[in-house]
Order: sequence, then structure tokens, then C-alpha cells
Amino acid sequence: MESELTNFIDSLEFRIKPLETAANMAYFNAAVTGKDEEYQKSSDLNVQLSKIYADKESFKRLKAFKESGKITDSLLVRQLNILYNTFLSNQVDEQKLENLIRSQTALEQKYSTFRATVNGKKYTDNEIENVLKTSVSSAELEKSWLASKQIGDSVSSDVIALVKMRNGIAKELGFANYQEMSLKLSDQDPEEIERLFDELDSLTRPVFMKVKNEMDSVLALKYGISPDKLMPWHYQNRFFQEAPAIYNVDLDSYYADKDVVSIAKDYFSGIGLDVSGILERSDLYEKEGKYQHAFCTHIDRSGDVRVVCNMKNNSQWMNTLLHELGHGVYDLNLDMSLPFYLRSPAHTFTTEAIAMIFGRLASNPLWLQDNAGVSADEAVKIREGVRSNLRLEQLVFSRWTQVMFRFEKSMYENPDQDLNRLWWDLVEKYQMIKKPEGRNNADWASKIHVALYPCYYHNYQLGELLASQLQAAINTRILNTGATDVVSMSNEPAAGEFLLENVFGPGARYQWNDMIKRATGEELTAKYFAAQFLD
Ligand SMILES: [Zn+2]
Repeated sequence: MESELTNFIDSLEFRIKPLETAANMAYFNAAVTGKDEEYQKSSDLNVQLSKIYADKESFKRLKAFKESGKITDSLLVRQLNILYNTFLSNQVDEQKLENLIRSQTALEQKYSTFRATVNGKKYTDNEIENVLKTSVSSAELEKSWLASKQIGDSVSSDVIALVKMRNGIAKELGFANYQEMSLKLSDQDPEEIERLFDELDSLTRPVFMKVKNEMDSVLALKYGISPDKLMPWHYQNRFFQEAPAIYNVDLDSYYADKDVVSIAKDYFSGIGLDVSGILERSDLYEKEGKYQHAFCTHIDRSGDVRVVCNMKNNSQWMNTLLHELGHGVYDLNLDMSLPFYLRSPAHTFTTEAIAMIFGRLASNPLWLQDNAGVSADEAVKIREGVRSNLRLEQLVFSRWTQVMFRFEKSMYENPDQDLNRLWWDLVEKYQMIKKPEGRNNADWASKIHVALYPCYYHNYQLGELLASQLQAAINTRILNTGATDVVSMSNEPAAGEFLLENVFGPGARYQWNDMIKRATGEELTAKYFAAQFLD
């Protein structure tokens, strides 16, 4: 049975590998050039790939392997699980899938063409965010915030229809609802994830209340009102998912006259993770028609790793480049002798965690001192402000992810409930901001992720938790310092070695929590995140 499975996997790899490589290459070229034909090529290749994974005969065989109980070799068990989940998620009635894709595309267009209207004038999301960040007039803030929510009511029935379609597919595949399916197929136990969010909630609640009180007094002063009059539009972001700027921190000046690409290259080389090959293959600077954000791709699961960026010498792009190169060193240092299907990170959130460990360095005063020529005096001077700012960012984001995770879970359990009310109950409970009196609108539907990138948001938070847990392990085991001490790891090849041996090398050989336990001695927990940012 095991040799039969090995043959099955080999012949699958034989068909998948060239297609997957070509699809990744086409996507990279599309992003870099913006050319229609490359986008077309990329989507055609992805359709071909999904057809292979939709094959009913192959799925039947995988099911038989799984149910035989005769597959015991640990590497084969892991490959079988990964393939089974991939095939299962593609075993959907073609008509249902097509309807879903069509509805999603139509809705995507509604979101991207929507413009908030204030006093008859149309505003982009960026313009609205800019008003929320800079205006000090409560009346203007309120109008802009309300305008940013207009999209909600106009798409809410479409979103509910989508949710029900997704639930229909999930039920057909034997799951209670789409949220449960989505987590289980990505190898996450819904109850375990909920326990982590509960743990995170109880760890962050007291300190969030304290910091939020401090923040409220600063904001009240700024807007000339009393703290109890603060409304959702006073928090400088449509969803209060980012920290308001209440500390005076400007890191851009440290990077303005530097070459952030060579800073990153030298830093990684100092910890024994050479990124020069990645940088040579990458596309780093702005171009006409090019994709405007950033990503990292492993083209062939054999070491062709590249990033796409639009570099500027400022703190945001320093963070982004370190982040993408974090994904890059993970992919590049996978044990290439592992079978094809295990040559990937243990989970999408584990590679996110590595990216976050490195991205966070861009606003780390010690790191600035070691890598960007900031003087020791200057580093001491900015330390408090940077730390307070980082803490506020992490706290605000973590409370927001509580809302997203719990809203999606409950919405997929019962899409017919009063979702407007569910949303505000969660916002009040976790973000601790007030619902405007009598408000009964589909504010939840103004968040595009709820509609179009379902049941993924929690992974950003899990990545933050793991980043802190791994950092704590590096601090205590490798650098012999306190778990929560601020470190830069500069010129500490042992830190790179730790990640290489315990995280990158193993790839997907172990289930993610198994990998985390082997690397840190504990399964994923919120306590290191709490310890790092909350005291
Ligand atoms: Zn990332």
C-alpha cells in the first residue's frame, strides 16, 4: 500500500511540478509587467492545476489510502494528509463552484468601484483614511466615517448570499459550515484556534483597557471633547484596526539617506542567511504598470525564491523588505531533499511569523543602532516612544482580530441572525468603542475581507503569536537573555542557525503545532506575545 501511494504521489508530482512552476512564473511576470497576457497565462495555468486536484478518480484513491490504515511512514502520512485536503477542497460540484466564482467576481467589482460620498463629492479609501487621520473636526470625521460605511448596506445581501453558497459547498463536503471547513482543510482545529483567541483575549483585556484609557485622554484633548464623547470616527481608522498616532515617533528620517536594500542584505548575511541570490532574482523598484504592494514567491520548490517590492528608503519599506525576505529565507532554506509536497512552510501562518520577526526589526532601536547608523544616544532617546507605539499597534490589532475571528465564526454558524447587531456587540466588547446611538447598518459588510477573503484573518494574529514565541526561544536559548528583552540578533549567526534547523529545514515534515513544540518546547500559545508587548 505504501509503495502504491509513493507511485501515486510521484506521478502526481510529475504532472503538477511543471504546471505549478509555470503558474508561479507567470504570476511573477504578470505582477512585474502588468501585462494582460501574463495575467491570462497565470489564470489559465491555475485552472489547469485545479482541474488536476478536482479529479474524482484520484480523490477516490487518496480516500482509500487514508481509510486503509496501512500508511504508517510519517513522511507519507504527512503527504497523504496534505494531498487529501487539497483534493477534498476541490471536490465541489462544478456548477456550484462556478456560481460562487461569478458572484465573488461581481462583488469584487462593487467593492473596487465604490467611492464614499460626502456632500455630493466622491472619495477614495485613501482619501477617507487621510481625513480620519488628520482632521480635528468631529463633524467632518463623523461624515467621513459614515460615508466609508455606505458600501455595507449596498452589498450586505450579496455577502449573505455568498456566505450561504459557501455553507452549501461545505455541507456537501461533509462539514457543518464554511468556517469549520476552511479551518479544518487548512489543518487547524476550530476549537483549538478559539481557545487561543480566548487566551489572547484574557491576556490582553486588562492592559488594553488601561492603554485605551490613556489613548482616549490624548484623543479627547486633540478633538476638544470629553473622553466619554469619543465615537468610532475619532480613532483615525475606518475600523480601528491600526493604532492612532499618539506618540511622536518618526523613523523615516533614519532611513532617508540610506540604501535599505543593502542594509537588509548585510543584516541577513550577518546572521548566516544569505539573501543575495534572492535579491538578484527579484524585482525591487517601481515600474509603470507594476503591482503596487509586495510579495515573496517560491517559483519551483527548488530554491528559485524571489520577492516583488516597490522600494523607497523609508521605514515602511524597510519593514516590508525584511518581511518579504523573512518569507524568502524560510523558502530558500527548506530541506530540498524532502518530498515535493513537504517542501513548503508548515503553514501559511508559520511563514507569516518568520516574516513578522524580521519586519518588526525596522522599528527596533537596537537594530537601528546596529544596522542603520543610529547613534547609541539617539537609540536610547527614541526607545520609549517606539516601544509604546509598538505596544499600542499590537494591542489595537489584536483586539480587532478578535472581532473578525468571532464575527466570521458566528456568521457562518447562522447567517440569518441579526448580523448588524452581532458586529456591534463584538466591536463594543473587544475593541471597546461605542456604537453610535440607534445605528442599525451593515457595517460588517464594509470590511472587504468578510466578503471576499473569508476565514483567513485569524492567521495574521497567529503569526504574531508565533513570532513572539520563536523570538522568546531565540532570546533565552541562543542569546542567553530575557525572553522579552529587545534584541537585534545582528551578527548572531546562531540565531539564524536556530531558525534554519528548527523551522525552515523541516518544511512541512511536521504538523505546524508539532513543529512549534519541537522548536520552542511548547505548542502555540499567546503568552509570549502578551509578555513581549503587554508589560
Ligand atoms: Zn507576509
